[in-house]
Amino acid sequence: MNLCDFAPEYIRSIQPYQPGKPIAELAREIGLDEAYVIKLASNENPLGTSPLALDAMINALHDVALYPDGSGYELKIALSKRYAVAPEQIILGNGSNDILDLAARVFLKPGATAVYSQHAFAVYPLVVQMIGANGLSIPARDFGHDLPAMLDAITPETRVVFIASPNNPTGTLSGEDELFQFMERVSRDVLVVIDEAYYEYLPETNKPDSIEWLKKFPNLLITRTFSKVYGLAGVRVGFGLTHPDVANLMNRVRQPFNVSSIGLVGALAALQDAEFVQKSYALNRAGMLQLTDGFRKLGIEFIPSYGNFISFNVTGDAANTLKIYQSLLRQGIIVRPLGIYEMPHHLRVTVGLESENKRFLESLENAMGEIA
Ligand SMILES: *Cc1c(COP(=O)(O)O)cnc(C)c1O
Repeated sequence: MNLCDFAPEYIRSIQPYQPGKPIAELAREIGLDEAYVIKLASNENPLGTSPLALDAMINALHDVALYPDGSGYELKIALSKRYAVAPEQIILGNGSNDILDLAARVFLKPGATAVYSQHAFAVYPLVVQMIGANGLSIPARDFGHDLPAMLDAITPETRVVFIASPNNPTGTLSGEDELFQFMERVSRDVLVVIDEAYYEYLPETNKPDSIEWLKKFPNLLITRTFSKVYGLAGVRVGFGLTHPDVANLMNRVRQPFNVSSIGLVGALAALQDAEFVQKSYALNRAGMLQLTDGFRKLGIEFIPSYGNFISFNVTGDAANTLKIYQSLLRQGIIVRPLGIYEMPHHLRVTVGLESENKRFLESLENAMGEIA
């Protein structure tokens, strides 16, 4: 036995999260300029960051010798006004992944179970396994969550259910009525996490009134993030909205300074920048149309998406799908292979700027020519 053998088996068997390939890494590998590389692999905002947030963060750099406000007072007040919830219902995280992790750490332990869907966001199994709890992956229906089957899968050991809506990487949305019925039927002894990382990309008519449900369901945790439409993925800010008692427990478990001072001011300013959010939303709608039109012209199957990304199936064959991925890399385009999501026939592409989408589609056509 050496030291590492003493780490619990459930830790040693964790498959590390695979992030999108960094631009600098690909540029090094193919010997091309970084400026030539287009990364459409991590659902980042192609417009960058809100200019208001950028200014606020640059100013805040002068104070980085000081610890951040560990309570995130100002950001919580702003969020509480925006969403008409009490500050005590808000928990801030180092990205919303941090919130998912806190939920797992508060409610799970070895022997407990968490339920999530097949093809759901990869962080759910990860945070469950880190605790040594059991993750139950419920087969998807048309790539979306099968909520009735997830409800049926709940046992007395189940403490947490993760629902991503829209889900990444499938882009599927659970309907508002279906979600509400799930909340009505599920035991109040089970925490339901509705992960709404892409909420701001939904058309108004598709936005569920989930925050309103907090009044009715003390076992609901809604997570949102500043990483996507607000363009702040690099500074790591997310938040959860829930019952004050749940927030209280999560607050005890989190690191005292889990959100950086730069993140706090960036998020506060980004929240006020309605113009940037609107611009990002509109760009995404147009880009999504551009991509789906392009796929149709190329005869490529895709899963209609409610996010800022879309998954597509070029060849129906896993080996050829990787060849397409590799060919795109050689052409300076980074997308995401989905083998770890049990979707080896799909690749996921983030909606970029018009010029980026165009180059992606041209490169994809080249790649298809190469494998034909
Ligand atoms: C991107 C994403 C998140 C956000 O992660 P952060 O930690 O906030 O950057 C959360 N859930 C899903 C489903 C995502 O795709």
